[in-house]
Amino acid sequence: MGQEFPLKLGQCGQDASAEAPMRPPKRLYAQQRIIYPPALLTCPPCGDLLVMCHSLAWDQTVQTLDRVLSVASRPGHGPHVTCAGSRLRLLSAQAPRRALPGSTYGYDVVVRIAWWRQESRAPYREIHPELASQVRLAQSHVGSLYPPVSLPLLACHARQHRDHLAPVAKEQGGLLIALDGLAPQGGEPHIWFIRERTSGFTLRSGWLAQQEPPPFAAFLKPLQHLEWPILAVLRDKQKGLVPAVATVLPNSHSQFCQAH
Ligand SMILES: [Zn+2]
Repeated sequence: MGQEFPLKLGQCGQDASAEAPMRPPKRLYAQQRIIYPPALLTCPPCGDLLVMCHSLAWDQTVQTLDRVLSVASRPGHGPHVTCAGSRLRLLSAQAPRRALPGSTYGYDVVVRIAWWRQESRAPYREIHPELASQVRLAQSHVGSLYPPVSLPLLACHARQHRDHLAPVAKEQGGLLIALDGLAPQGGEPHIWFIRERTSGFTLRSGWLAQQEPPPFAAFLKPLQHLEWPILAVLRDKQKGLVPAVATVLPNSHSQFCQAH
């Protein structure tokens, strides 16, 4: 290594270290390519079969705890130009389950960090070496991955999320919501996410100890106070969710995720 990057004589230490080349980031090579179809098969307003879009909605490399994936989502839209569904871009529920929008770290990585923080209050410097054996990750990134799943707040109260969601809601006449849970250690789901399907925004996330209707209903309740109607709820095949969705969002159309 030292031979590859010799220090330049005659320069002060600071310059030398500034010159010392950072190792060029190794490219991540995906071991698997996955293109997810839309989660809904049919157009929410009219119920006819969706038509697939030619272009991919998002396409990114995702590092999970056990492999590197190249993940994309092929949207669908309603088949009739006269139907509001023709303007929708309905996405996969599975693709955004893999990683945060714009992040190359899989949710399993994020959930693992959150779990260590939550359960054992492990500091990031201890979490990092554990993860670094499985995922290429800088120590400084460990902390930045924690907040997105730890805030049990309706994130769309934040102004920038509202500004993002408003045009989507206007275009669609409301919001399409997906619910899913992730288990940190392969057991029962513990972390739950409420996402807006078209934009991929996480509206809410939180830890639920029990997968029963009352905690789910309490978790979903803030959706009632959004300024936009909830058109459809795409849900994980969790029994507790069925009555909870029916109670909290009685007017929404509810559908299982196709992947289940
Ligand atoms: Zn339609």
